Order: sequence, then C-alpha cells, then structure tokens
Amino acid sequence: MSTYLRHLTAISAFKGPHMYATLFSAYRATFRLLPLALCLLTVHPLSAASRAHAPQQGHSQRSSPDQPQAEASAPLPAPIKNLFWQPNDLQQGSPTLFTIEFERVPTRVSAKWIGKNLSFFKSSDPKVWLALAGADLETAPGSYNLTVAATFSGGKIVHAVKQVDIAAANFQSGAVDVPENFVEPDAAAKRQIAADGILKRRAFSHLIPAPQWSGNFVSPVEAKPTNSFGKQRVFNEELTSTHRGTDFPIKEGATVVVSNSGTVLLAKELFYEGNCVIVDHGQSFYTTYMHLSRIDVKPGERLTKGAKIGLSGATGRATGPHLHMGVRWNGAYLDPTRLLALTLPKLGANGPTNPAATAAKRQASVHHRRR
Ligand SMILES: [Zn+2]
Repeated sequence: MSTYLRHLTAISAFKGPHMYATLFSAYRATFRLLPLALCLLTVHPLSAASRAHAPQQGHSQRSSPDQPQAEASAPLPAPIKNLFWQPNDLQQGSPTLFTIEFERVPTRVSAKWIGKNLSFFKSSDPKVWLALAGADLETAPGSYNLTVAATFSGGKIVHAVKQVDIAAANFQSGAVDVPENFVEPDAAAKRQIAADGILKRRAFSHLIPAPQWSGNFVSPVEAKPTNSFGKQRVFNEELTSTHRGTDFPIKEGATVVVSNSGTVLLAKELFYEGNCVIVDHGQSFYTTYMHLSRIDVKPGERLTKGAKIGLSGATGRATGPHLHMGVRWNGAYLDPTRLLALTLPKLGANGPTNPAATAAKRQASVHHRRR
C-alpha cells in the first residue's frame, strides 16, 4: 500500500498528466483499430439511463490536460495533505480512483461529485482514504467540483473543494440488424422485459458497505475488447440506442471469469442480456457479464477474482458469440476497458476487505437500500 501511494503521489505531483496522456493515447489508438462491436444490448429498459448532468463550472474553467489538476483548485486546508485521482485525464465514462492523504487520521470522509455521493474507505494506512468512482458516459464535458467533508475526533469537520475535469469521449456509431422481436417486442417479451427490470433494479440497489475488490480488475475472457463502449447504434433502421458496455468477441464456450472479487447478485437468463451475471464489488460498484451459454454461479455466492462464472455464448440480443461486460457505479455506466487499465491497490490482510476479519460483520451489514 505504501509503495503504491508513493508511486501515485509521485505521479500526481510530477509526471502524472504526461504519463497518463501518453498511456491513454496509445490505448485509444489500439482499440480504435479493433473490429466493430457484435453486441446488440441496448438501453436497459428499467435500469434508469442516467441523464446528462450540467457542469458546475463552465468550460473556461477547464485546465489543459498537460497541467496538474492541483493548479485549477484552491489550496487544500489542513490537515488535508493531498487529494488526487488516477487516471489524471478523465473523460465521459471514465472510472477513477480518488485518494486523499491527511496529516492526522479522520473518523469519516464523505464527498460529492457530479451529483453522486462517494464512499471513501480507510486504506491500510489510516491517514490515506480511497474511493472508487467514475463519470457516467452521458456526463456533459466540463469541470465538476469534488466536495469533500472530513470529520475528525471531537466532531470537527474540514471541507475541501477540487475541480475535476471531464473531457468529451470519441464514441463510435453504426447500424445493426436484429430479429424484429428485439426491436418491437411482442406482449410476452414485454412482460419478461418488465420482470427483468425489477430484478435488475433490485440488484443495482444492493449495498455492501466495504469494498470487496482488491488490486486491478482483470479481463473476463482471453480476448481483446472492441472499441464499443458508448457506441450509438441504430437497430433495423428504426431504434437508436447507446451501447453501455464493452464487447469482447470470443467463440462460444470459452471460460468467462469474474473481473475482481465480489458477491453474485443475479445469475439468470434475461430477455436482452441472455444468460446474465451481476457481481457486487462493494460500495455500489458492480460488473455485469452477458450472453453466456452457461452460468456456473448462484446469487449470494462470494467469488474471488478470476473465478469462473460461466461460458461465453450468444444468448439474448446478440448477432454472434461474444462477451458483453458492463461496469456500473452508483447509477453511472462506466467504460470497462478503462477500468481494466486502472492500477488499484491490493486491499489485503490489514485492509477493510479481510474476509476472515470482516465476514461476520459483512453478513450482518449487507442489506438493500430502502427505496
Ligand atoms: Zn454489448
């Protein structure tokens, strides 16, 4: 953890913007060359597509990607020593890890960003708090204030504000042909879509207070992803929708693994998604896996990163075998390829996700939010 933080602090202070800009340029160039998406998943009818948020600051406030973010914000009040995020260059759909370093240990850290509450958790160093979050793909480009409130013993609350810039993403577009029932569902299909929506809403309102992930998220299949996140598709020349995940072209029957540790919330065949698995990684961060030919896990099952969840396939609305991976945080749809590119700390034996130490506590605290 300490090595990780020294690494990130150094990146943030000295070479972050350049380093990440270079990395992401290469990254984007790579994915642009890959084949077009196969997946036909569209607007999840009942999963409440996020609406674009108006930026709190105008575009004139946006700092250049080559400038450190700190220059755009007021000095941090003591005892907040440092506040940074990776990657430095965020765009529509980017997942991000926020890190706050304190001079003394707070008892609670909360924050708001783009209208959403962030859950900060204490790292193995109690003076360093982390939050895994992200900007929804429909977030309007601009600068957004991250407003932090840190509570210290005695009840003193320290506030800090930092501007975080979201750049426009270069999403693709294209036409797709599918069986008509996937564009104009009949009565029976509509009933199933409505029932699926209830199940998905319930899954995405599940709350595990502590993170269950640890270290980097890994590719769910041994295949390269397409540049398909955020793609605008027109189905059968009549229905326009946004692709809210990433497709990995892969033959039927290939092993699909869970991208990070977590708990299975849903493992079931749905109308559009086909055989679908939703995994909760804690603190409202979820990954989804769709179109599977076989599901090998059950709801409630606790998975370790890399565990097999099933086999790839072409069930649901798909033109051919592939895996659709989705990433959701707090109602936002995030870019899976950018999540896979994040360098994340291991939350090990002394961290908040030690299974032995927290199993009983977690069992007692897992619950559904009231709606
Ligand atoms: Zn897809």
